[in-house]
Amino acid sequence: MKILISGAGAAGLCAGIDLARAGHTVEIVERANHLRVNGSPIDVRGDALEIARGMGILDAVREHRITMTEQTVFVDRSGAAVAPLVGQEINESPEDIELPREDLMTILRQALPEEVDLRFAESIVALVDDGSRVAVTFASGREGGYDLVVGADGVHSAVRRMVFGPEEQFSEHLGVYAAIGEAPGQASSDTTRVTEILSLPGCFAGIARYRDKTLGILEFRSGPIDYDYHDLDAQKRILAEAFAGIEDWRVPELVKNAQEDPELYFDATALIHMPTWNRGRVVLIGDAAHCATPMAGRGTSLALLGAWTLTEELGRHGDDLAAAFTAYEQRQRPHAAAAQEFARGGADLVVPATWEAIEARNSRLRAAQPI
Ligand SMILES: Cc1cc2nc3c(=O)[nH]c(=O)nc-3n(C[C@H](O)[C@H](O)[C@H](O)COP(=O)(O)OP(=O)(O)OC[C@H]3O[C@@H](n4cnc5c(N)ncnc54)[C@H](O)[C@@H]3O)c2cc1C
Repeated sequence: MKILISGAGAAGLCAGIDLARAGHTVEIVERANHLRVNGSPIDVRGDALEIARGMGILDAVREHRITMTEQTVFVDRSGAAVAPLVGQEINESPEDIELPREDLMTILRQALPEEVDLRFAESIVALVDDGSRVAVTFASGREGGYDLVVGADGVHSAVRRMVFGPEEQFSEHLGVYAAIGEAPGQASSDTTRVTEILSLPGCFAGIARYRDKTLGILEFRSGPIDYDYHDLDAQKRILAEAFAGIEDWRVPELVKNAQEDPELYFDATALIHMPTWNRGRVVLIGDAAHCATPMAGRGTSLALLGAWTLTEELGRHGDDLAAAFTAYEQRQRPHAAAAQEFARGGADLVVPATWEAIEARNSRLRAAQPI
């Protein structure tokens, strides 16, 4: 088949690798003008480890392994450690492989077969599925016809919007916004302090360190905020307003770092629920289909799994796309549902709403693992 993939995140790149290796002709369009590799370290875990092996990238993934959680502490306003982050609380297991997001994205990019046509600064603006082919118009003015269109364009998927309708009907806001950016100058003289997090009622500020990188992570509780997802200035303004007046610990410096980062990642933590992930010759994978938010710690693993499962089922069912999509959904849905269920408890763990809730969490963590 001639297949178009929208989005070159983990889901889109994995689908590109798997589908091209299965013999399909693949084109990927990515809205950004470069691979978006920033973000905090992610985990390859559970079934995704076997998929990584099947894709031939497991050794490379292992080589880039880092361990962050076991050296993560919550601190008080003076920076003194008050509680450890216990791995079980974030559903970690010893087999999981944690690695920098930029490393995984680079590994996937390198594994992409040469014949895959990867186009940056390009996106779909219209698509018409006449039952035998999907006619696509791109932002550049180009037009093309495809047997299958895969929407792998993330939580705010444009393919989902064009084919299934507005995002609001599928999105469940978990009440927290998160920002992740570079935080140069936030190194620690204490090398055992890999990640430090200050919790305040309704928000947190964290510093994560690995290799020569220092990231600032800022999260705050809020109901849905109306803004243009693509407007970085608006994102920075919202972030600055949320932390205005907080002078504790390194918060002002971290907010300043975030304001200066041209690649700042900022988004609501929102689950995506859909009754079906396919319509005609269009199918969704990854966050576009079933975003579980960073709180689940499973988004990337789900992306690997979904791309692999879709490719297998397309191989198994030949021309019968409907049967392939049904089988893909049946296999993928339980994984997505479990991750989403886990994410629901995330806000109370990472962003408790009150001082009492912060102290209760810290006491529970100290009881599980004395500091
Ligand atoms: C910059 C960035 C940083 C992230 N940081 C973290 C993190 O720190 N922790 C965490 O748990 N998760 C993070 N995530 C989310 C995580 O990558 C996903 O949950 C997971 O990997 C599933 O990936 P995905 O490919 O489905 O979605 P995404 O990773 O969101 O990838 C979607 C891709 O589609 C592109 N795109 C969007 N709209 C269009 C369009 N209209 N046309 C073409 N392309 C489009 C985006 O630029 C992006 O490259 C981040 C995502 C991004 C984009």
